[in-house]
Amino acid sequence: MATFVELRTKAKMPIVGLGTWKSSPGQVKEAVKVAIDAGYRHIDCAYFYENENEVGDAIQEKIKEKVVKREDLFIVSKLWPTFFERPLVKTACQKTLKDLKLDYLDIYLIHWPQGLQPSKDFFPKDDKGNILTSKATFLDAWEALEELVDEGLVKALGISNFNHFQIEKLLNKPGLKHKPVTNQIECHPYLTQDKLIQYCHSKGITITAYSPLGSPDRPWAKPEDPSLLEDPKITEIAAKYKKSTAQVLIRFHIQRNVAVIPKSVTPKRIIENFQVFDFKLSDEDMATMLSFNRNWRVCSVTHLAHLDEYPFHAEY
Ligand code: NAP
Repeated sequence: MATFVELRTKAKMPIVGLGTWKSSPGQVKEAVKVAIDAGYRHIDCAYFYENENEVGDAIQEKIKEKVVKREDLFIVSKLWPTFFERPLVKTACQKTLKDLKLDYLDIYLIHWPQGLQPSKDFFPKDDKGNILTSKATFLDAWEALEELVDEGLVKALGISNFNHFQIEKLLNKPGLKHKPVTNQIECHPYLTQDKLIQYCHSKGITITAYSPLGSPDRPWAKPEDPSLLEDPKITEIAAKYKKSTAQVLIRFHIQRNVAVIPKSVTPKRIIENFQVFDFKLSDEDMATMLSFNRNWRVCSVTHLAHLDEYPFHAEY
């Protein structure tokens, strides 16, 4: 039986969701259908993943087959930072809704805090290869996002990859109408995010953990990088519970009251990653896993590190 993380709106976000970054069109439709059949109700999507149309096809099929109703599902998507200018925010949301074939999202997140120049490219550049930023900030985008909530296109708003200074800025925005319900951040035993989690929880902001398995299919993976799934100490803990390493890495978040969104396009793994509600890691094993922190990031987006509002220069 799945559990939930309660949002400040009182909505219940299923604590395990399916990630869809890198899930190619052609594979993602089947993956979402398998996931819904296996009991997943939370699907993590984004315009940036270039596959929302196929995710939407899968959702439609499962609704048509009467496996689920729309209101049983919890669908999250994200605003890409080339759409921070006010009039573009709604256009971006409408495109996502059209592709997903939905009339509302459960949460719409700001994918990344640095505004980029409006463009058909995700990372617009000038002739010399310099990244082009936007004058519109995440605060500008937020005001337009609030209108989407008021219009019913979006049930709640969230942020992703925000540090605590940026969250503070948002919470202190004059006239703030809708507060963020979640901060979706990278989190796993090599990046335990203790301070940011504690800060967010103290402000009523839940956490959603991305890349919980260390994102082995990230395009920039190097052979010398650390590997969570092959870490002998984590494998040893998993063996004690007769669970897979992936299941222990997922369960780790559940016990911190953090939502977690492992990605897979492999039916067997999609099912396995949801079988995490029938065991409990001991306090000692949780502490051991927390002790593996080494502040290692999958998604550091270093090509934006020289620009204002890069989120990862701050300690948390
Ligand atoms: P992840 O979930 O940590 O890892 C996915 C990889 O692990 C895939 O290669 C997958 O392979 C493999 N895998 C899945 N289950 C497995 C299992 N049981 N045993 C062994 N291998 C397994 O990586 P992620 O995709 O980076 O993160 C998850 C989701 O978080 C994303 O898909 C996306 O929705 C979200 N995300 C958000 C942001 C953001 O900026 N907000 C950034 C990164 C990720 P197969 O697919 O081949 O089975």
